[in-house]
Amino acid sequence: MTDTPPFTVQIVPVTPFQQNCSIIKAASGKAAVVDPGGEPDKIMAAAEQMGATIEKIWLTHGHLDHAGAAEEIKRRTGAPIEGPQKEEVFWLSQIRESWRKFGVEDGEDCTPDRWLEDGDTLELDGVRFGVVYTPGHTPGHVVIFNKEARIAFVGDVLFAGSIGRTDFPRGDHATLIKSITDKLWPLGDDMRFVPGHGPISTFGHERQSNPFVADHLTGYKGAATTAPDEAAQKTSKRWQ
Ligand SMILES: [Zn+2]
Repeated sequence: MTDTPPFTVQIVPVTPFQQNCSIIKAASGKAAVVDPGGEPDKIMAAAEQMGATIEKIWLTHGHLDHAGAAEEIKRRTGAPIEGPQKEEVFWLSQIRESWRKFGVEDGEDCTPDRWLEDGDTLELDGVRFGVVYTPGHTPGHVVIFNKEARIAFVGDVLFAGSIGRTDFPRGDHATLIKSITDKLWPLGDDMRFVPGHGPISTFGHERQSNPFVADHLTGYKGAATTAPDEAAQKTSKRWQ
């Protein structure tokens, strides 16, 4: 018999952007919710159905579809909001305004209880999660991971077959690529990840085939480099 996993994860897609909000439930039922971007009723119902009591709210970054319901979930549960890194105040302070641009009267600006920095630790019912600072998509983006369970919550840094957009104010393509190769790849090829949108994948799979950050494009660990497949890059979905 192997050890029972220290927690289970349920993904709840929220907002018109189908953002992957994750509910992480420890064996005791205590839970953390990662990136509650909207639809608080749906998130609370999912938590109740899985017998989860939300005690922590963790944010990867401050975009409207990731953080828009954080304050509402906090009001309903009393859970503190932890993350992202403090540069993200730039986005956290314009959530309501951003939604309005999409014609949606939902979501509100967010003031976290705790900012995170590279190397910090988050804790859920005695289970420890690591934090790496991964700017590029946004200036204060973080990735949250659990070493033992081999799972990472990467927000909009990396997707199955794509990477996050960098055409927003304070986005930067080279910084994003560096965040991925310097901070994510060292966590291990077998690390599964839940991206902010779309299906889960593993870092190892993306190192082989991702049209933006495969090893043959980045030269990671001295890999021989070849030209990118521009058609593949153009057709891959890059999320906000
Ligand atoms: Zn984003």
